[in-house]
Amino acid sequence: MPELQTKKKVLSLIQPTAVPHIGNYVGALRNWAGMADDYDCVYGVADLHALTIRPEPPALRRQSLEAFAMLLALGLRRGNNVVFLQSHVPEHCQLAWLLNCYTQFGEASRMTQFKDKSTQHADNVNVGLFTYPTLMAADILLYQADYVPIGADQKQHLELCRNVAERFNGLYGQTFVVPEPYIGKIGSRVMSLQEPTKKMSKSDPNPKGAISILDTPAEILKKCRSAVTDSEACVRHADGKDGINNLMTIYAACTGKAFGEIEQEFAGKGYGDFKNAVAEAVVEELRPFQEEYRRLLSDKAYLIQAAAEGADAARRLAAKTVGKAYRKVGLWDGRR
Ligand code: ATP
Ligand code: MG
Repeated sequence: MPELQTKKKVLSLIQPTAVPHIGNYVGALRNWAGMADDYDCVYGVADLHALTIRPEPPALRRQSLEAFAMLLALGLRRGNNVVFLQSHVPEHCQLAWLLNCYTQFGEASRMTQFKDKSTQHADNVNVGLFTYPTLMAADILLYQADYVPIGADQKQHLELCRNVAERFNGLYGQTFVVPEPYIGKIGSRVMSLQEPTKKMSKSDPNPKGAISILDTPAEILKKCRSAVTDSEACVRHADGKDGINNLMTIYAACTGKAFGEIEQEFAGKGYGDFKNAVAEAVVEELRPFQEEYRRLLSDKAYLIQAAAEGADAARRLAAKTVGKAYRKVGLWDGRR
């Protein structure tokens, strides 16, 4: 008898309103396709979450399609993976409402991201911003995900999700898998090109600090050339050389070279040469992804079909969980 194998499930949703940067790429995105060997993965575009900052409708539509194409260009549509848009699966809203009723106002009020975002968007502190973590909990619990790859800033939200899931399971019996953070192999941590003591971030207001994964070769070169360095003019990894350390990290992540090798390669050369080489390495690293992304965007019929298939597959999984949770809390299904 063949052994029955069930893979653990990984879930990750990306926001359509901010394009990922090279840090996201080497730290997370480029590793996702390979994960299909070991896990069943669910990837989505979190377009409902994007509404909390009231994007312009045409921009949101375009960015959602682009983010979906990005997920496909990363090679994520393989194995048993599901790739979809959140708004195509109404179960996200259904479960989010239910979870709202099992989340205490006090615990939601402790979320630091709500406090940060309500300061950032002081003119639009909407309830969606406040209940963002319960929608995120629904995203995760709907698919019975075992693992969620998250950045440090989502830790608190995942903790809330775990608490709510445990509370619900405690009240009604096993309903949701309680998810854990996914700790991948230690990826490189890329810092801002302009302030190399701070990590590269999508929400950095200075566009020169981050290389977007959709930047053109000319933009990449320009950003690398204007990266902050030091006055020593020696490519070596050392304390106090944050800018050069960071460029070396990026170069290493894109070429697979060790720091020692890089130091030898650039011995006696200036920062100008090094920066050009970093830019070229980034361009080459991103080239296959960018080519596939552009190819997909020019094939809208394919994207439409892939989105429909993704939504069907996602709904099959999500509807099961919502049905179960609805029954447990005593909602009458009108059939029996
Ligand atoms: P934001 O500023 O909106 O928080 P972010 O750039 O921090 O955006 P996240 O969406 O928080 O990106 O993180 C997405 C994934 O990318 C996570 O897995 C996180 O660990 C990884 N990541 C984020 N920033 C970096 C970075 N600078 N270097 C390496 N990995 C990163
Ligand atoms: Mg972050």
